[in-house]
Amino acid sequence: MKSRRAVFSFLFLLVALVFLFAYPRMEKKSVCYYVNQGYVFGTYYNIRYSHTDSLHREIRECLSLFDGSLSTFNSESTISRINKNEQMSTDLWFEQMYETAHKVSILSNGAFDITVAPLVNAWGFGFKNKEQMTSERVDSLLQYVGYQTIALENHQLRKQHPQTMLDASAIAKGQSCDIVAQMLAAKGCENYLVDIGGEVVCKGVNDMGSAWKIAINKPYDDLMGTNHSIERVVASESICMATSGNYRQFYYDNGVRRSHTIDPRTGYPVQHNLLSATIIAPTCMEADALATACMVLGKDSAYALISGIEDTECLLIYTDERDSLKTITTPFFPQDFSEKK
Ligand code: ADP
Ligand code: MG
Repeated sequence: MKSRRAVFSFLFLLVALVFLFAYPRMEKKSVCYYVNQGYVFGTYYNIRYSHTDSLHREIRECLSLFDGSLSTFNSESTISRINKNEQMSTDLWFEQMYETAHKVSILSNGAFDITVAPLVNAWGFGFKNKEQMTSERVDSLLQYVGYQTIALENHQLRKQHPQTMLDASAIAKGQSCDIVAQMLAAKGCENYLVDIGGEVVCKGVNDMGSAWKIAINKPYDDLMGTNHSIERVVASESICMATSGNYRQFYYDNGVRRSHTIDPRTGYPVQHNLLSATIIAPTCMEADALATACMVLGKDSAYALISGIEDTECLLIYTDERDSLKTITTPFFPQDFSEKK
């Protein structure tokens, strides 16, 4: 009898001890919304998500690895070393970028082309100094431009001309949004909004429990990046969206406006009445590349291109004959969600 009581007392003590030590560890950490901001690839990032802990360190690591693959402003990146014709194996992100870039080049009939780098540089929008441009210089650079002149084989980029260089600026920002979003999802985040330089991926709800709101700016000339007049607000619980425009990156050369979107087929910066293109696509990488393709193609061809691609929508802002702003969207582009309504 006595020994049974002793056993019970011992067991009770054991359970009490286990509970005492394990309970604080079993206690569930509470989830809250984090906002992480900073600069990367010469632009900003603004990332919001719900989680038990801050994931800013993981986000920075992710962005820095990405920079090491695709930033032309990082002289040691995979893309920079390929541009310098160093013997270099391509990495996974480079290959992912290449495949999508190639697909969009074919879809857009060469309007989108990452081999446009020598022209982007010479016109003063790239990673090298601006040159004095003449039609002869444009022609001589055009011979090194052409997505059909490069190929990816066994993790090596083959070039027909060693002078050919790549510029992933029109696709990498979108791709980096996808990558950060995948990392957040893998860490268990169900609600997040990843905005890198205006390209956006979002999932779930915001800290108010409602769909994320994304503003699309009116494309007024804005070299300082201070004009934030809004054209439309999109509310969504799952979207990949990218915008390209010619209202922030341009200069005047003897009265001629030169914008940062170059037509790889002519060698000249584009000049037409399409001011911005916002694309929704299955991935932000595709949306980003397609937005640039649209800016090269101009309003009507851009509309035709996007209308022909499944699960992809666009909002195009252009000026009419009287110079007033007009908007056209494909049928399933989200309606304006305005707080005032
Ligand atoms: P943003 O999001 O800043 O409006 P984009 O996504 O359109 O910009 O990318 C513009 C950049 O892409 C240019 O600064 C240049 O580096 C590169 N670029 C310019 N023209 C083309 C083109 N036709 N195809 C691919 N990349 C281009
Ligand atoms: Mg783009």
